[in-house]
Amino acid sequence: MSSRDWVYEKFCAYYRNPRYTFPSPPSFSQREYAFLLFKERAMVRHKSFVSPTGLLAYLRERIPSDVYHSCAYYENPEADMDKKGWSGADLVFDIDADHIPTSCGKIHDEWKCSNPGCLVAGGMSGRGVTPEECPACSGVKFETKTWACEECIDTTRTETRKLLDMLMNDFGFSEQEIHTYFSGHRGYHIHVENEAIRSLDTMARKEIVDYVCGIGLDMFDKKRRDHSKSKRKTSPPSFTLGNYGWKKRLKDGMSKYILNSTKDGLIELGISKKGADTLSKNKEAIVHRCIEENRWDTVKGVGFETWMRIAEYVKNQEIAQIDTVVTSDIHRLIRANGTLHGKTGLLKAEFPVKDIDRFDPFVGAVAFKEGTAHVFVSDAPEFKLSGETFGPYKQRKVELPTAAAVLLILKGRAEVQE
Ligand SMILES: [Zn+2]
Ligand SMILES: [Zn+2]
Repeated sequence: MSSRDWVYEKFCAYYRNPRYTFPSPPSFSQREYAFLLFKERAMVRHKSFVSPTGLLAYLRERIPSDVYHSCAYYENPEADMDKKGWSGADLVFDIDADHIPTSCGKIHDEWKCSNPGCLVAGGMSGRGVTPEECPACSGVKFETKTWACEECIDTTRTETRKLLDMLMNDFGFSEQEIHTYFSGHRGYHIHVENEAIRSLDTMARKEIVDYVCGIGLDMFDKKRRDHSKSKRKTSPPSFTLGNYGWKKRLKDGMSKYILNSTKDGLIELGISKKGADTLSKNKEAIVHRCIEENRWDTVKGVGFETWMRIAEYVKNQEIAQIDTVVTSDIHRLIRANGTLHGKTGLLKAEFPVKDIDRFDPFVGAVAFKEGTAHVFVSDAPEFKLSGETFGPYKQRKVELPTAAAVLLILKGRAEVQE
């Protein structure tokens, strides 16, 4: 039996288990469903179902490797795109290690240009985040080999935490309106379901993306900046800080940064030795006078340039690194909650917003909990699953729990042994 057939059997057993239920998204029948079929490796789109029972029957019959539904609601979900009758969409966010440069990615992620005419013989290759275009031939197709490690999850969790904070504190969504999921691979999905955001168009969603990513953020008091341009630097620009939104994020962030700073850290940020010395010796007084009383130009040796560097640093710490394309696409298909991921065999799994730090995807999203398999592992780093640590393995025959064997096979790192 081929390894892929073996995994297919596991997927069959999972969906055909009478205890399996499909957690239906709201407005179930108004959504488009799409499936990547396991055996055919073909995408089936534009499906709709009257009830979750119908979808469940389809899952059990066809056994897809991946299940998606539209974030949008349609009058006719099965019609062609232009005839579907778009009637709104959830606001969704995707935070994925694929798009975030991590130090672990440089170790465990590889890409190779698959343009046969690539200027580098055999196709240019590299490690880390896959580029949008091949640096050698501008090709856009790549073969990738990725891994999901704990550092990937920690990184995406941090970004997700920042996003949740913005959604609740800046946008005012309640915990009940926000749904948080492990994506099934190496990231998180956030779905916001709220009447007010359903009808937002692409432009409005792009505005939300800009807010979350700090794009076009105007940190300065414009009047004073214009003034300073015309009249030599008599009155340097100042920050527009306040008690809500980005104004509060910058205010709190800059205060916290200075209070926790060291002279060396400040110099590393590009601040002059003299400025760093003054700042690190008078932290409380400077925070009080400059940030709280808005008197930016009253400390000798700590000029606007210094504040700019601190503000930029804080901004980059505060933004949430989301996949911007996903949020602005009002027809987006997103993986369905409670279904298996075809690259890992893990589930897309929902957990309460407040459990973001407690939920361990490598425990909570494990689907296959019984049995073991003998596999030949070509190459796998150390990994954890269901609380157990495995590997690293190189060219070795091992007996692994089903979930670990499925993961390695789907990642192209192991073959099942008869
Ligand atoms: Zn190339
Ligand atoms: Zn990683």
